[in-house]
Amino acid sequence: MKPNDRLAKANLLLLLGASVWASPVTTVPWNGHKGAVTFTFDDGCPTQLTNVLPALKARGQTATFFLIGNSAFTGKQAEWKAAALAGHELGNHTTLHDQLNSLDSAKITAEIRDQALALRAVDPAVEAVTLAYPYCGTNDLVNRIANRENIIARTCGGDGLFAWNSKPTEWMSMTSFILQDDASVPAALTQIDKAAADNSWLVTLNHGIGGDWNYIGTAQAISMFDRAVAAKVWVSTYQNVAAYWRASKTMDTVTARQTSTGWDLAWTSPHPRMPRSVRLRIKLDTATFGSTAQLGQNGTPIARESDGSYVIDFMKLALSVSRTSSRSTRNHQETRPSIVRTSNHGDLRIDGIDDGLYSCAFVKADGSRSAEAIVLARGRSATIATADITGRTSMLELRSSANPADHWLFRLPSVR
Ligand SMILES: [Zn+2]
Repeated sequence: MKPNDRLAKANLLLLLGASVWASPVTTVPWNGHKGAVTFTFDDGCPTQLTNVLPALKARGQTATFFLIGNSAFTGKQAEWKAAALAGHELGNHTTLHDQLNSLDSAKITAEIRDQALALRAVDPAVEAVTLAYPYCGTNDLVNRIANRENIIARTCGGDGLFAWNSKPTEWMSMTSFILQDDASVPAALTQIDKAAADNSWLVTLNHGIGGDWNYIGTAQAISMFDRAVAAKVWVSTYQNVAAYWRASKTMDTVTARQTSTGWDLAWTSPHPRMPRSVRLRIKLDTATFGSTAQLGQNGTPIARESDGSYVIDFMKLALSVSRTSSRSTRNHQETRPSIVRTSNHGDLRIDGIDDGLYSCAFVKADGSRSAEAIVLARGRSATIATADITGRTSMLELRSSANPADHWLFRLPSVR
């Protein structure tokens, strides 16, 4: 909702003398971007590992790979695990790739559940809560069973575009834009531009890239990735964008309860399989909260971003707003994480952080930032390869995915 729309809505409610009010919290569409694009790749085609992952890495983009319980997955577990740890999504494409709407409910259940469990066994970072139907085959029974393990499920057909303000009637039957060969690429590029122009989410479906089956050329795939960069859309995984969008539908209806120090807001998760953490970018209504309010979750203050938004973890299911801004920064009594160089090439290790996923970006002397990369902390430390940073880089920014309020800026130690 644009500020003007919000004002118009508030005025309308005032005119009506209504006892309901607009939510005092608004989710920023598509994580602050105009439009979003999710690239999905089915069947675990080997060319996805060789041709897609390097191209995505070079652009700091992440994508979704819907895997089957065949050797393209089980024989390449280490490669897929590395992809997951780099921030890509390993999604469910069933164990045997059967047409689910021709099976009985016991078989449908096994096909979906067993592959979800196999994917989740790859690494704790793999949540496997999205599904792509083999041959796009589904019906009401399949949808109902899919809903047990998944927050969203992909079919095909249609234009694959979803407007921010629309609300899906069936999250278990979401269309996608299919690319079968190079002839379908120009239309896909147009769809990417359309996602940006219409503030919509585009979901594409590919198989092989530069080989395997139903494939488009590697250069053609790269032209899609580059078009998404040029369009400035949010490029992220099916799970990330779906969770963000589903969370917004809850967030934008939350009401605030007044307390002695401010307001409490609480809500429930829209689905039992929502990811463990959902970073949601929200704005507070200043007419309700004033302009100096301080937002926090679980007692931890959350800093205001430069555009006035706050990045919360929706899955904490509550936030509080206090009237004063006396606690605008983190408590500096806490032990601050430390940074060390671990090699002559300049690889870095951050110690003293909680285990989990972090996004990191390098900040150059002129203030420009590199694309965000995802790193996993284990044993309270995370290692960051710095092969592609230049000598002009001066700072490293690290932000926790689970608790976006936890973020630090480190001055880089010099190379030994
Ligand atoms: Zn398939």
